[in-house]
Amino acid sequence: NKQVILNHCVRGSPKESDMEIRTARKKLKLPGGSSGAILVKNLYLSCEPYTYVTNGMSKMEGKIEGVNLESFNPGSPIVGYGVAEVLDSSHPNFKKGDLVWGITTWEEYSIITSTEGLFKIQHTDVPLSYYTGILGMPGMTAYAGFFEVCSPKKGERVFISAACGAVGQLVGQFAKLFGCYVVGSAGSKEKVDLLKNKLGFDEAFNYKEEAHLNAALERYFPDGIDIYFDNVGGKMLDAVLLNMTVHSRIAACGMISQYNLEHPEGIHNLLCLLTKRIRMEGFLVFDYYHLYPKFLEMIIPQIKEGKITYVEDIAEGLENGPSALIRLFSGRNIGKQLVAVTPG
Ligand code: NDP
Repeated sequence: NKQVILNHCVRGSPKESDMEIRTARKKLKLPGGSSGAILVKNLYLSCEPYTYVTNGMSKMEGKIEGVNLESFNPGSPIVGYGVAEVLDSSHPNFKKGDLVWGITTWEEYSIITSTEGLFKIQHTDVPLSYYTGILGMPGMTAYAGFFEVCSPKKGERVFISAACGAVGQLVGQFAKLFGCYVVGSAGSKEKVDLLKNKLGFDEAFNYKEEAHLNAALERYFPDGIDIYFDNVGGKMLDAVLLNMTVHSRIAACGMISQYNLEHPEGIHNLLCLLTKRIRMEGFLVFDYYHLYPKFLEMIIPQIKEGKITYVEDIAEGLENGPSALIRLFSGRNIGKQLVAVTPG
């Protein structure tokens, strides 16, 4: 059973050498009796900033209120989201052959003892890898963040950072379908082209090439931003605050620019929250999973009718898991980064 092991707690940006590939010789077997555990074959593993946070790779470990973080265990496989096939089950709700998505471990085969974080896959006429992205946790994050947190109105002006990623590319498409003007920022020309030419954004810019973020935002939003979907925090958030309209909204989805910093950057323009009566709300997708059936009802037809596109960046083979995971923090991933456990 090939595994991706986390060697030690990571300080600063993660490196490939923080993880290693190991082969466990012990044959996996379900505990006897009605333990409720299931044995699965992992098919796809999801790379996300969350994987980094919940595995104790960042200093944020243990600080997410209301979320039961997996306890960090050096020398154990990484814990994260994935798509898997059930091979054996002692749980009444799961049987051999079922396909599931949810929390699993980074190895070829896993025994999952707590099935609480697992969803049974009902729709199999779409790519199964989509359950790590558009039909999984990032999809729900985009849906809940945009529709529940941002309270959008038709015609509003929406800005999204890390717009070409797993979550951002969907927020932009939801906002366009809803009738908003949508601009995204991303870290390369290739991503900017994708946003404008494939994902239907009205405008996009490479934030790494802008000497002054404030000037860039003024260029694309001469009348201000009504909704900011924040995936990065830091300097971008600071510049955005200056450009928000009165009674605008900010969904604080993520702050990837801050996760690896020893000393997070200060935000200077918070006074704008008050003067412009901005509502800034942090949210966690875990509070919205009750909306998953409603989300599927909306998104499955949109995928089948080609109204929504999803860009994936697939690393082939479990041994490429470590390099795939760290791509997120240098922005090398183009679209949703995931790992196909067995090369296709
Ligand atoms: P992405 O697929 O967007 O990958 C991360 C991207 O972030 C990179 O491709 C890179 O794109 C950008 N990035 C990396 N480092 C920096 C930096 N220092 N400054 C600015 N941008 C950077 O990831 P996801 O879509 O999975 O996640 C997006 C955000 O949403 C993350 O902050 C994540 O933590 C958060 N999240 C929150 C959830 C919640 O429940 N609130 C649930 C899921 C995700 P670029 O080329 O643009 O630099």
